[in-house]
Amino acid sequence: MPMHGAWHGIAWTIAAVPFSTASSASTAASTATPAALPPHAVSLLRTARLARSTRPFLARGGPKGERCEGCRLRPSHCICALRPHLPTQAGFCLLMHDAEPLKPSNTGWLIADVVQTTHAFGWSRTEVDPALLALLADPQWQPYVVFPSEYVQPPERAVHSVQPTATAAGPKPLFILLDATWSEARKMFRKSPYLDRFPVLGLQPEQISRYRLRRSQRDDHFCTSEVAALCLELSGHPQDQRAGQALEAYLEVYTHHYLQAKQQQPADARSPAHTRLQQAVATVLTPKK
Ligand SMILES: [Zn+2]
Repeated sequence: MPMHGAWHGIAWTIAAVPFSTASSASTAASTATPAALPPHAVSLLRTARLARSTRPFLARGGPKGERCEGCRLRPSHCICALRPHLPTQAGFCLLMHDAEPLKPSNTGWLIADVVQTTHAFGWSRTEVDPALLALLADPQWQPYVVFPSEYVQPPERAVHSVQPTATAAGPKPLFILLDATWSEARKMFRKSPYLDRFPVLGLQPEQISRYRLRRSQRDDHFCTSEVAALCLELSGHPQDQRAGQALEAYLEVYTHHYLQAKQQQPADARSPAHTRLQQAVATVLTPKK
């Protein structure tokens, strides 16, 4: 499924090239047994969304494509055993548009894989989950709505940096990501009055180009998990910055496995992406002094 309608792609960058991992795969034999992982926030949201469906949601590729419940990849290309689940100071709050949790291409899922403190809520114009309001009111957090600053009214709401956490007790940054297509995300931004009191964090061109220089691959636009990696970098906390690098590498590993499965080729556990992921996770778990 091409993501060139995804709002981060259009909003943060100039060229929107379809994100190649987001298309569907053909069938492949299952050989691996996924590690048992507890369902995370996006996984739970997916389950709840499926329970509400009146008809089965079929990802492109049809019903034949068996997928691991943990990582949504072909069982033969499962990455559950490679999943880092890292502590961070900052947290994420994903507001997900209706069918977003069901899409195999959704990368909010990868954020919830990697960042331990990830909350996910389904978005509705008419209702708001009381648990979301409670999270936003929790004094341990300083929420930031991550959205392009040119859409912000009044302009004073727009910020380009994150306040350092004052004390051990907080408040810590809570990044609110609108996980949707661009047109859906604009609507969500306009029609969620409970977000109006928070600063809006826009990503600056220099942050984007620095990130792009580091990227080893492909297209020219960002998916939700890349935006999350940039937010972690901005949080200013060394642990978060390292976790952001791990999240980037994990997306690369996911992409590699996805594409290999699609081409019915085995995944290469010694690919550059795997090496980067191992190194990134090692730095999170054994930080340099
Ligand atoms: Zn898996």
